[in-house]
Amino acid sequence: MSEKKWVYLFNEVDKAQEAVGGDWEDVRAFLGGKGANLGDMTRAGIPVPPGFTVTTEACLAYLHEGNKFPEDMWKQELEAMKEVEQLTGKKFGDPSNPLLVSSRSGAKFSMPGMMDTVLNIGLNDETAEGLAEKMGDARFVYDAYRRLVEMFGSVVLDIPDEAFEHPMSAYKAKKGVKSDTELTAEDWKSITETFKAVFREHTGTDFPGDPYEQLKLSTEAVFKSWNGKRAVDYRNAAGISHDLGTAVNIVTMVFGNMGWESGTGVAFTRDPATGERKLYGDYLLNAQGEDVVAGIRNTEKIQNLENDLPEAYQEFLDICEKLEVHYRDMQDVEFTIEDGKLWMLQTRTGKRTAKSAVKIAVDMADEGLISNEEAVLRISPDEVDTLLHPQFDISALNQAEDEGRKIAHGVNASPGAAVGQIYFDADKSELKAKEDGQDVIMVRPFTKPDDVHGMLAAKGILTSEGGATSHAAVVARQFGVPCVVGAADIKIDLEKRQMDVNGKIVKEGDWISVDGTTGDVFLGKMPTIAPSLEEQTDLLTLLNWADEICAAPGIRKAPEGWPTKGLEVWANADYPADARRARSYGAIGIGLCRTEHMFFEQERLPIVQRMILADTSEERTAALDELLPYQRSDFSGLFEAMDGYPVIIRLIDPPLHEFLPSEEELLEEVITMRVTGKTERLEEKEELLEDVQSMHESNPMMGLRGVRLSISMPEIVEMQVRAIFEAAAEQTKAGIEVKPEVMIPLTGTVKELDWIQPRLERIAADVMKEQDVNFDYKFGTMIEIPRAAVTAQEIAEVAEFFSFGTNDLTQMTFGYSRDDAERNFLITYVEEGILPKNPFQTIDQDGVGRLMRISVEDGRKSRVDLEVGICGEHGGDPDSIEFCHLIGNNYVSCSPFRVPIARLAAAHAALKHSNN
Ligand code: PEP
Ligand code: MG
Repeated sequence: MSEKKWVYLFNEVDKAQEAVGGDWEDVRAFLGGKGANLGDMTRAGIPVPPGFTVTTEACLAYLHEGNKFPEDMWKQELEAMKEVEQLTGKKFGDPSNPLLVSSRSGAKFSMPGMMDTVLNIGLNDETAEGLAEKMGDARFVYDAYRRLVEMFGSVVLDIPDEAFEHPMSAYKAKKGVKSDTELTAEDWKSITETFKAVFREHTGTDFPGDPYEQLKLSTEAVFKSWNGKRAVDYRNAAGISHDLGTAVNIVTMVFGNMGWESGTGVAFTRDPATGERKLYGDYLLNAQGEDVVAGIRNTEKIQNLENDLPEAYQEFLDICEKLEVHYRDMQDVEFTIEDGKLWMLQTRTGKRTAKSAVKIAVDMADEGLISNEEAVLRISPDEVDTLLHPQFDISALNQAEDEGRKIAHGVNASPGAAVGQIYFDADKSELKAKEDGQDVIMVRPFTKPDDVHGMLAAKGILTSEGGATSHAAVVARQFGVPCVVGAADIKIDLEKRQMDVNGKIVKEGDWISVDGTTGDVFLGKMPTIAPSLEEQTDLLTLLNWADEICAAPGIRKAPEGWPTKGLEVWANADYPADARRARSYGAIGIGLCRTEHMFFEQERLPIVQRMILADTSEERTAALDELLPYQRSDFSGLFEAMDGYPVIIRLIDPPLHEFLPSEEELLEEVITMRVTGKTERLEEKEELLEDVQSMHESNPMMGLRGVRLSISMPEIVEMQVRAIFEAAAEQTKAGIEVKPEVMIPLTGTVKELDWIQPRLERIAADVMKEQDVNFDYKFGTMIEIPRAAVTAQEIAEVAEFFSFGTNDLTQMTFGYSRDDAERNFLITYVEEGILPKNPFQTIDQDGVGRLMRISVEDGRKSRVDLEVGICGEHGGDPDSIEFCHLIGNNYVSCSPFRVPIARLAAAHAALKHSNN
């Protein structure tokens, strides 16, 4: 019977892999992460100092047997040691040519709390003497020796660090030296003796001079550390299983401080900041790893190694290339050169900036190292987000912080950097931005819907109240304006038009800088770096690959007749300029044009008000006739911008009172007029007040709006449909390919569609006939009321498309009013774990999502080719996008600024769930 194998040399990783059945994750569990990696590098022909791994199984057996090595294990460790002696040409414990090793723990997952490292195992009085002679450097050897006694004492036998530190400082004080570098060989020798005495004092035994005793004890110490309190606590906190055990790695010591043919360094195989394909790192000749990190001496740029040690450098270059090919990613490596011979001590995937990540992914795909799909998967939607917003110059940030100009910190609600002069209300913000061309930061305690004009004119928004889902945060994200909310240090005094930030007074018109990516607020102007998508060619390439992935038929498993391509990405855009931006960001459709936004424009609002307040149908029609040309030209611009792509135009949605002055305002005006006797316009205002009062609703968001409004006042939507089709006809004649889709909001029952849709379709047909043009169009509805979702099968008999209005659908499914929820309790709900996330940002899959799934399934029972999209804010959220992919949406529609993020997220969803 063959004996159980507990010990694997680094060059036996194949055997280990065979023993566990081939899966690399299992190898990592068996040899630990570090051991597996050292073995893997050895297998790839990378020069790794010879060594071996004692398996995690051995650790578990040891612990199980009441701290006894399993049978044969120690024998195998001794045999492995012989092999290492062979490989290195040195001998463990031989004073004439001693082999020194380190012992390192290594579980499957890297884990603080376990025993880490003991260096220089194998030194004792004899080998130290011999090595000093051989190297001609007693100082170096005795420094190494005292380190072994110290580490062995503290790491293996738990002697407190201070026990060594105190005599060390006392020694230096006595000698009158400050730094270790001033100590001589004799000093280190004497300190080694002192440390041995400390060791004796604390353990009652002598420091073990026998190298094999050192090896045995440190192997045991690693095993035991698996059950040390800190390790157990860490595993509990990180949810790591207690059944894994840790491996022990015994690695030959190599020294970078053996003279000027030796050295040590760290490097990235590509530039971690820019992604450029060029080594990036530092080294020091005649130095130890710590010297590079500690910055005691000035390091050299890695490229200079070519002059110092050309052969080692060339080999290093080759190895870096080999490592990249092997791991198929940029590596962060540590190396040591001992007497001209290069050794690799570690390699791992290197951390990098978003910019560098994109360049590296695209370059590696071009180089054939990875596929386009892998390149796409390597970039996260958040990284894309970062790349599209202006950023502060990092050195300027550090400087500002050093100078105490960071004045507040809040919630990073909408990413990007903004610099401007502060104003405390929306009107003034807009005025200063538009008329004086100033860069404005709008500062408010919180914002409301009637602040939006100021927010849009501003470069940035700062509020002292509210969280990630407050009105300010949501609007800012929607429009891509950098925003920090809930900066509680700021006390705004709207009367005095200033704010007090921890005693510092900042006045209206003063400059501040707001970092929406981090939530920091700075006093004064900070330089920014503004990226544009057009200039980021690597990102464009990556996004094109993402589109190609989604456009491939068959990428999505689907029932017969459902879309088998991935999701398309459309955008929500109200104006032609938004649509053009959406196109430039890669949107291939407009999923929502909120037509009512156009009614708010200055010259139109009075006409809209006249239309609303009309006493007779003729008066109303007259006002609508005036509005029609405006709407026609708006739509015309949209069709032109979206030549060849679908444009969904939603008919009027909000309650009419939103277009009228508020009741409170009017009442105040009327009372003032009466009191002051300035009564010229009193009668007019009183009438208006009466009208507004007559339209009062106790809960307008659930009252007369959406399709309900269209049914009680069809003239408005009739005008809108005429405008849509006249615009489409006009553009068709001009050679544009139009694809209008008319969307009816807030449907709750199919009977509503039965009532309104045929009237509108008649108008469409009339216009086409009048204009003598023909183009395809659709009539469809939003699904934003739970009743619509559960009766989707009937609704789809009339509606030719569905678009999920998940803002309203979430409100109505939860029974939350969004504004109230976000202001009052949502944060608590998320903090308390009652809700996993804010459902207004990420779709609640169990509730709202369930309704969506039902809608798609039932809707396609009536109409198998039913087009399904989403135009609520969730359309730009990566998790929600994945969900839309899974339930069979054709597209997602989001703010133009989020289109690149959505394109990447759509491709991720497609790849994650594809069969291929
Ligand atoms: C929605 O409800 O999700 C939607 C898109 O409509 P609005 O946000 O305009 O109510
Ligand atoms: Mg809605």
